Amino acid sequence: MSPAEETAKILRQLGVNSGGGMPCCSPIDGSRIGSVTEASPVEVGAACAAAQAAFLAWRAVPAPRRGELVRLLGEELRSAKEPLARLVTLEAGKIVSEGLGEVQEMIDICDYAVGLSRQLYGLVIASERPEHRMIEQWHPLGLVAVISAFNFPVAVWAWNAALALVCGDPVIWKPSEKTPLTAAAVMALVGRALARFGDAPHALLQLLQGGRAVGAALADDPRIKLVSATGSTRMGRELGPLVAARFGRTLLELGGNNAMIVAPSADLALAERAILFSAAGTAGQRCTSLRRLIVHDSIADALVSRLRALIAKIPVGDPRDSVTLVGPLIDADAYDAMARACPDVERVDAVDGGHYVRPALVEVSAQAGIMLEETFAPILYVLRYSTFDQAIALNNDVKQGLSSSIFTNDLREAERFLSAAGSDCGIANVNIGPSGAEIGGAFGGEKETGGGRESGSDSWRAYMRRSTNTINYGSTLPLAQGVKFDLDA
Ligand code: NAD
Repeated sequence: MSPAEETAKILRQLGVNSGGGMPCCSPIDGSRIGSVTEASPVEVGAACAAAQAAFLAWRAVPAPRRGELVRLLGEELRSAKEPLARLVTLEAGKIVSEGLGEVQEMIDICDYAVGLSRQLYGLVIASERPEHRMIEQWHPLGLVAVISAFNFPVAVWAWNAALALVCGDPVIWKPSEKTPLTAAAVMALVGRALARFGDAPHALLQLLQGGRAVGAALADDPRIKLVSATGSTRMGRELGPLVAARFGRTLLELGGNNAMIVAPSADLALAERAILFSAAGTAGQRCTSLRRLIVHDSIADALVSRLRALIAKIPVGDPRDSVTLVGPLIDADAYDAMARACPDVERVDAVDGGHYVRPALVEVSAQAGIMLEETFAPILYVLRYSTFDQAIALNNDVKQGLSSSIFTNDLREAERFLSAAGSDCGIANVNIGPSGAEIGGAFGGEKETGGGRESGSDSWRAYMRRSTNTINYGSTLPLAQGVKFDLDA
């Protein structure tokens, strides 16, 4: 079946009505697989007004009841896992297993958020004043806009929406213009969950299709209290100041340039598997993809020649084929970016109209030039090191700070890598690659990766506002710090 036929079948199966002036194409063969309608500025404003009304109702619903909606959404995702994952494959080019993994990540965050809906804890704080009590409460924040990237077309929305919903916030989603159909399919599942839930306010969860202009309009609207934006550092640089200018909050998940250190004591068989998945998986189009391999001099020759042999054997092709491990790049622009960074790029003739490449391994003598940028394609630069301090310095000496890892069986090296003087990234792993996070941890990175954290741990706090309350249950009015302010003193 052609991508267009298969897409149409899945959209019918999921009950998705699409169509409009904005075309969408499959990276499998570049063919048109559907179209959607771009939101106008007026529609952006109307969506914000409707969501604001929804907020006033939703914030009054008890959090565990809000969790019930997320539980129902998790059920809908479970029952539609296969077709939704297939749509991810058709629209984003992920191999079958990664498409399924992406939807599983949505289910996982729903499960997590349901439990969280009974755990939005504040603190009780000791007051310095007699017969006083201090507490900290967390209240719903308000409207959340989610702007997502093409490479995680559905999971990123779920990371944000599941948490925002239990925290009491409506969500307006502006997906990537490259992957609008998967977003439309998710909204069909949302519709089913809302119908079963019964009394959720209208406009609690909305979808606005379109490109940068729609994202910028959301960023500019003062009714949006949090803009959670995932994409390139360029996007963050443009969008961040718009939100900051009106004192809104941002949660920025931007580009990475992730490294792995391979030390002399490393289990090389494990390291090789981790390197292949992290560097070549998702055709190098993950924010956590491995781009810089920092290898000790003593093992570099052997490791590099083994990696070259393994990369030559990686099956590159149609992502729907069960043997394929590396599918297409998202589009011609992605291919051009790879060719600019790596003139020796090897094209693979897999499916006419698609852009298929063999992952590239490039040995370099210094960390400089194009490797300091994030090229969103499967290029693995290999650098050598002689001292451990040098390896850590190389790991940190880029502008991005998302993910990092070390392969070592030396406890001291592992602990130094994780210590304050070690990796400066938001994610630092030992004996696993930099790619493929679980939802239980906080996800995000430092420096030009934007500083945002989403998903697990206490990331939920970004979706709530903190209220500090002092209660006097005595009959005097002592002031803090012993200040006296009595008329008759
Ligand atoms: P992109 O920056 O081109 O677009 C991302 C989203 O932002 C899209 O929805 C786009 O329409 C919107 N957008 C772009 N410019 C905008 C602007 N000026 N104002 C408002 N909205 C704007 O990114 P992409 O090509 O879709 O995705 C790849 C990038 O995303 C890579 O850099 C990758 O590292 C990054 N990414 C980061 C994470 C993370 O968690 N850190 C996760 C996934 C992807």
